[in-house]
Amino acid sequence: MSAPISARPPVLLIRYGEIGLKGGNRPLFERILCQNLKTALGPLPGLRTRRLRGRILVEAEIDLSPYLARAAKVFGVISVSAAEVLPLDLEVLFARAPELVAETLALDFPGTHKVPFRITVNRPNKRFPMRSQELVLALAEAVMPTQDRLEVNLKHAELNLEVDIREDQLLLFLRRLPGPAGLPVGSIGRGMCLLSGGIDSPVAAWMCMKRGMRMEFISFYSFPHIGPQSREKVIRLAESLAAWQPITKLHVVPFAAMQEAIRDHCPEPYRTVLYRRAMQRMSSMMANRRHCRALITGESLGQVASQTIHNMTVIEEASRYPVLRPLIGMDKTEVIAKAREIGTYNLSTLPAPDCCTVFQPDKPVIYGQLHEALAAEAVLDLDTLTRDAVRAAETLELAPDA
Ligand code: ATP
Ligand code: MG
Repeated sequence: MSAPISARPPVLLIRYGEIGLKGGNRPLFERILCQNLKTALGPLPGLRTRRLRGRILVEAEIDLSPYLARAAKVFGVISVSAAEVLPLDLEVLFARAPELVAETLALDFPGTHKVPFRITVNRPNKRFPMRSQELVLALAEAVMPTQDRLEVNLKHAELNLEVDIREDQLLLFLRRLPGPAGLPVGSIGRGMCLLSGGIDSPVAAWMCMKRGMRMEFISFYSFPHIGPQSREKVIRLAESLAAWQPITKLHVVPFAAMQEAIRDHCPEPYRTVLYRRAMQRMSSMMANRRHCRALITGESLGQVASQTIHNMTVIEEASRYPVLRPLIGMDKTEVIAKAREIGTYNLSTLPAPDCCTVFQPDKPVIYGQLHEALAAEAVLDLDTLTRDAVRAAETLELAPDA
């Protein structure tokens, strides 16, 4: 091992995409992205972000390379690299680059096979004395003779040595970990996601979070008709989604009294539709308290009886806010693939019933009519039932499960 050439610990170099397109709002979006990155990495000594042209540099007094995966979970990030920081000094670069390539080869490409290799130089600092192409050639001369396993392949390189020439330093790195892209959470406002224990609603939440929405969660819990494992399951799902945004709140709302009233006083075929209308009403009240401006559900067209356009129209009428349904045109297989990708599928498929199954009608109405739903509800004291349930909600503040 050679002595460390640079006293500066490795940093994270962040590439971001779409927020670059937002014209005059760009500084605001960048500020939110920087803040979200800092929150995702946690309190670390000297943690700070610097905005470079088209990039964000995250620095600290410690080596940030172990935090690469966390940064890659921040919406707005296209890709991230852990980079070594070198002075603007060619001699240092030519000494360090072959070492770094050797270390990475040993670690990531065990064996004796050839590894397709290239060098990429990015030179935003135009005062740097060597042009990009000259530097690529000079670096190749410094690196290639030290390793007989490297073969140049510009198009399909598996190992790419990259040098970023900045105003005050050189950044040297070999990997880009893809991020989730999208927009930074909090840049688009707040939503309230109706989170069941199923496969769909966590995916719906994730998709809106990816588009920059800060998400709160509300879940309806019909204790004692439904056991505590259903509540636990929803908490675990919300914890899993909490990894994707800075702060996550989950409101668990007691739903049994409302369901019993509907069972006792309303026509049986309308039960499910009325449960859903009750959820919309309570979610709207909670959304208003929490300054959320939209409700998000995991509904998709035709998936179950309550998801015909007739029933969805009757259900949505009970909401004070726009209802966003990001899965509306997706097949179940597509939703499942997404759930696997974002890591919620295994939690969603744990066995635990949802409150919608409580007192489930034999023949639920498929083409509900608003006037019939309103007439059915007219016998209930909806205001009191709604207010009491929302007042009795249990609010949990969740840390990511990671
Ligand atoms: P999911 O996989 O999300 O449960 P699903 O296909 O089972 O979806 P439904 O049970 O018809 O769909 O529910 C439709 C939507 O209503 C859910 O995606 C969710 O947004 C909301 N919802 C259902 N049950 C609850 C609940 N107990 N608490 C909060 N929201 C719920
Ligand atoms: Mg469900």
